[in-house]
Amino acid sequence: MQVAACALAILTLSLPVPTRAAVEVDPTIKVGLFYGSNALPGANLLNDVGSGYRLGYFDDDRVFQQLTATSETAISVVKTQNVYYGTVGNWAGYYDTITSSIAVGCWHLKLPGSYSSYDEAAAAASAYSGGFVAWIDGTWQARVGAWLDKTSAQAGQAQLGLADAEIVGTSSYGVSVVKTGTSQILFQFDGGSSRCLGIQPGLDDSVKTETIFRGNTYYGGFQYQRVSGGNLTVSNVIGLEDYVQGVIVREMSSSWPLEALKAQAVCARTYAYRNYIAGKHKSQGFDLCNTIDCQAYYGMDEVTASSSKAVEQTYGEYAWYNGSLIEAVYSSHDGGATESAVNVWGSNVAYLIGKYDPYEASVASKVPSYNWTVTYTAQELTDLLNSKGYTNSGIVDFRVTKTSPTGNAIEITFTDSSGKSWSKIRDACRTFLNLRSIHYTVSSSSGSGSSGGGGSYSVNGDGTLSSLDGAYAIDGSGSTSKLGSDVYMIDGSGQVSQAVPSGGSGGGTSTGGETVFTITGSGWGHNVGMSQWGAYAMAQQGYTYLDILTFYYTGIEVRQP
Ligand SMILES: [Zn+2]
Repeated sequence: MQVAACALAILTLSLPVPTRAAVEVDPTIKVGLFYGSNALPGANLLNDVGSGYRLGYFDDDRVFQQLTATSETAISVVKTQNVYYGTVGNWAGYYDTITSSIAVGCWHLKLPGSYSSYDEAAAAASAYSGGFVAWIDGTWQARVGAWLDKTSAQAGQAQLGLADAEIVGTSSYGVSVVKTGTSQILFQFDGGSSRCLGIQPGLDDSVKTETIFRGNTYYGGFQYQRVSGGNLTVSNVIGLEDYVQGVIVREMSSSWPLEALKAQAVCARTYAYRNYIAGKHKSQGFDLCNTIDCQAYYGMDEVTASSSKAVEQTYGEYAWYNGSLIEAVYSSHDGGATESAVNVWGSNVAYLIGKYDPYEASVASKVPSYNWTVTYTAQELTDLLNSKGYTNSGIVDFRVTKTSPTGNAIEITFTDSSGKSWSKIRDACRTFLNLRSIHYTVSSSSGSGSSGGGGSYSVNGDGTLSSLDGAYAIDGSGSTSKLGSDVYMIDGSGQVSQAVPSGGSGGGTSTGGETVFTITGSGWGHNVGMSQWGAYAMAQQGYTYLDILTFYYTGIEVRQP
């Protein structure tokens, strides 16, 4: 697969930091799969490994409490409104509110009497075609039928001679479990706003189940919550160790060297635990989402023996600084140097310290767009700043005005023709111009029409060269070579022009005299913490995951709680 190469960008330093005594190994976590505007009217499950399903709920300690079970291998959970099984188009195979001939109505008959167990209610319900058991706020009911409106339910009631049955309709929190592809209700659950349906695939714990949901395969169980009475928020209820297996193959690739995967496993586990404790998605009914907002997670399809081994060999290990879990941020590649958190996000973090990265460049040829160049004409910068509300009289200068000790841009400044200037600092050195990283330099070239004295080459920051004699260029593999007297540059449109000093009298660029700013950089992401490609390179050079982690995170230790 394509390496996700994700860059986690949110530093949650204000959150409570779990200390060693409070941290568990392999807690049960809830990962949101469909939620918010993606919540579903109906959610299918298909057994892949293991057969059948236990139906119930996850209690306050996240222990599964079984209410009943089904031996069906393909089931769906639908909200208790009228839903239909799609047979054509995008809805084929799913339940939705778009009408079709296979309808699951939300009007039912509640049989009289009270039942003290599932079996008692099931015995009563089984006397009728379309009878099923409902668990409503802790009580058992026997229900019959699934009509689309109250009038039809009344007609059904008369036909069945059930004058003493009560007609019940939709609810805000109820869900029905149906046999996929049919209108047959297997079980109904309504725990109000406090309890929601849980499903544990497999009829016992003897098999480690794998279950297909929306095209992906998952270990563990599922939870279906109608947040605020809406569609189904579907979460995977899974052990942290299994979750980490799913994450590392998305954040890296299972084909990467084992020690790199182990380093990623420790990062993913540590990062997940902090978010889990922080309750970032608590109001949505789960701990972590499945996107790079938390960490990319789409089940177990990419898991291999190697990625499983990476998790097993680091079982329960987290990264710590002074006895607290670290903020294990990482990015795709640092381009040659990581950066201190304080220079990117403004917060000092003792273990997130910028370093030159001597490893990453050795794999630069494997990394898509490791080195990159972006050019802006003065007019383009003028327009860009104007569009962002920085009204200017025409940008005439753009340069890096402050670099960190490791050479990353941490302050950039734009100056207009009136001498007014605007600076951007920290991570905005990347995001303001939508660049791939902060590891870059800026050079400018201007054509004929300038006046003035001897002229100079603006290199970066406040550096200028009066001549290119004695200057060196660095290529993608990190090797340097001396520049000759004639230096040519290629711009984003493929145009080649000779580098000439600004303010010089001779020559001229093919840009008609307009100043062009060339941003030359490498790396992708925020540059803080571990470089994933750097981890790859270190692993390839024989370093262990502990070497990798202690290089990118200064002064940490890696161990179980
Ligand atoms: Zn999230």
